[in-house]
Formats: sequence, C-alpha cells, structure tokens
Amino acid sequence: MNDTSEPTLQRWLTGPRFTGLPMQAADHKPPALSFEFFPPRTEALEQQLWTCIQRLAPLQPRFVSVTYGAGGSTQARTHATVARIVQETSLVPAAHLTCVGATCGEVDDVARRYWDAGVRHIVALRGDPPPGQSYSPHPGGYAYAADLVAGLAKVAPFEISVAAYPEVHPGASNPMADLENLKRKLDAGATRAITQYFFETSTYLRFLDLCLAAGITAPIVPGIMPVSNFASIVKFSAACGASVPAWMARLFEGTEDDAETRRMVGMVVAAEQVRLLQANGVDEFHFYTLNRPDLTYAIAHILGVRTAV
Ligand SMILES: Cc1cc2nc3c(=O)[nH]c(=O)nc-3n(C[C@H](O)[C@H](O)[C@H](O)COP(=O)(O)OP(=O)(O)OC[C@H]3O[C@@H](n4cnc5c(N)ncnc54)[C@H](O)[C@@H]3O)c2cc1C
Repeated sequence: MNDTSEPTLQRWLTGPRFTGLPMQAADHKPPALSFEFFPPRTEALEQQLWTCIQRLAPLQPRFVSVTYGAGGSTQARTHATVARIVQETSLVPAAHLTCVGATCGEVDDVARRYWDAGVRHIVALRGDPPPGQSYSPHPGGYAYAADLVAGLAKVAPFEISVAAYPEVHPGASNPMADLENLKRKLDAGATRAITQYFFETSTYLRFLDLCLAAGITAPIVPGIMPVSNFASIVKFSAACGASVPAWMARLFEGTEDDAETRRMVGMVVAAEQVRLLQANGVDEFHFYTLNRPDLTYAIAHILGVRTAV
C-alpha cells in the first residue's frame, strides 16, 4: 500500500477514472475496511447505531472501533457498546482507550475488563484536555500514547492501533518530532496506525513517504471522513488540526439548507478520494462513520467491496 509513485498519480489525474483502476484487474482483491462508531448517549441514538452496525456488518470489516469520549467521559458507554458488539455480532471490536484524567492503574483496570469481556484490540490514544486547557499528564497516569501502548502490552497481548497525523498533530513541537513519536508508539508494540482524516490526498501520500524514510513500515491506514454536514466539519477540523481546502468549501457552497445535495456532494468528494488512494496502492481504509451507514456503504461498494452472501 505504500506505492506513491507520481506516474500512478499522474495517470489517475489525467486518465479515465472508473476504468483501468486496480479493482478492474481480475486478481485484484477488494480493500480491507474498518469502521469507527461513537457510543450512543440516548435510546434513539442507540437505535441509530445498531441500524448502522447492521447495515455495515455484511461488508465484513476487519474490525469495528468504538471511541472513548474526551477525558474518558464515555467509559461506561464505550464498554457497554463494545460488549454488545461482542455478544450480539460476529464483528471484531476494537475499544478506544485514552490516558487523560486517570492513573495507570485505573487505565489498566479498564483494559483488563475489556480483555475479560473478549476484546482483543485496543486503539491506544493520549486523548485531549478539556476545551481551553493545555495538556498535562495526570499525576501517576500514562503521559503519552506511547506510554499507554507499553502499559497495555503488560496487561494482556492486545492487538494495538495508534493515531497518526498526516498534517502533524497540533501539539507537536515540529513534524519530525511527531514522526518520531509515531515510531515510538509502533516500537512500543502497536502494529497499525490509523490517520486523522484529511481531504488533500497528496498530503497523505507524502506522509507515507516520510514514514518510510523514518523507517516506519507498519500499515498507516487512511482515516476517511465522508462529509454530510460541512459546517460542523469545518468547526471540528479547526479544533483537531485537519485542514479543509478552499475547493471543498466551494463544492459545498450554497448547500447549507439542502441536506440531500450536501450528502451527494460529500459522497462524490469521498469517492474520488478513496479511488485516488486505491489507484496509488492503498488497500486498507478506516471510515469515520459518525454512526451513519449510507455514505460509508456506498463508498465501500465503489471500492469493490461486496456484501457477504
Ligand atoms: C484514529 C483516531 C482515533 C481517535 N479516537 C479518540 C477517542 O476515542 N477519544 C479521544 O478522546 N480522542 C480520540 N482521538 C484524538 C486524540 O486523542 C487526540 O488527537 C490527542 O490530542 C492525541 O492523541 P495521540 O494518541 O495521537 O497522542 P500522542 O501520540 O501521545 O501525541 C500527542 C502529542 O504529544 C506529542 N508527544 C508525544 N510524546 C511526547 C513526549 N514524550 N514529549 C513531548 N511531546 C510528546 C506528540 O507529538 C503529539 O503532538 C483520536 C484520534 C485519531 C487520529
């Protein structure tokens, strides 16, 4: 998945899009997918999540992950959602877990409960401080995600994924330090990185080159954010350091009161992005579903993924 050769990019940019791409070859396997959900807060949102899970499950994702609210605020809900996935589906769950606001012992206990509930995959994160505050490690806690990865490896032999930032994490002192941090997380025992979402595909392809040059060989799975609410993505992106290109703003311009058109525009943007990634050899994708299945399902279909019969 790390073939970032310019000729492929050029061919895709100037050539036919829906013919001659990798999935057309008889021996080309559809990509591996993973889906991210958030734990529901209300009965109605719970219903929405399970409708989403049921719609996406036949696409046979490699795993599905459930986020952990800022500061561990959803600890019980994340656990309940992951446990229900274990009990009621054949999906492989991954539980997000963060360091903020807890001692190492408390975090280890949460991890142990996951292991006892049959969860074998953790997405290990530092987490963010409450809005308006700057980050400082909890006394007696894991300071950074790399420390959490090392701690989890002592709790049980979890599969561990970590976060990566093609546009550099906003708190990093410089891009090289951020890359070194990613390497530390992988060296500590993580086997995959999932990226923050990005909209300029070339940013991710360049990031892969930087990772390779830094000696990082683990899969760096692109995080894909299908956009249906452009205004909220603009707001969220400003907080997490993802840039929203001007061309995207132009595409969504005038759709503020037209949810249906926004969805269709978002579909085209994400489909074009994943096709460009696929044409450059990317064979694994992580979708930020926001507990809504439709765009993710359609994009997976375009990537050549078909439901199990
Ligand atoms: C795929 C994905 C899933 C996510 N899921 C969640 C979730 O479920 N819940 C949630 O609350 N948040 C989630 N986040 C957001 C994440 O918690 C924030 O981006 C957070 O600010 C950083 O987490 P991290 O694990 O990348 O931190 P780290 O890898 O620890 O890095 C954080 C920052 O500290 C720097 N750094 C690392 N080590 C050191 C050191 N020793 N000294 C100085 N600086 C250092 C890094 O360069 C970086 O700038 C997710 C992000 C991604 C990409």
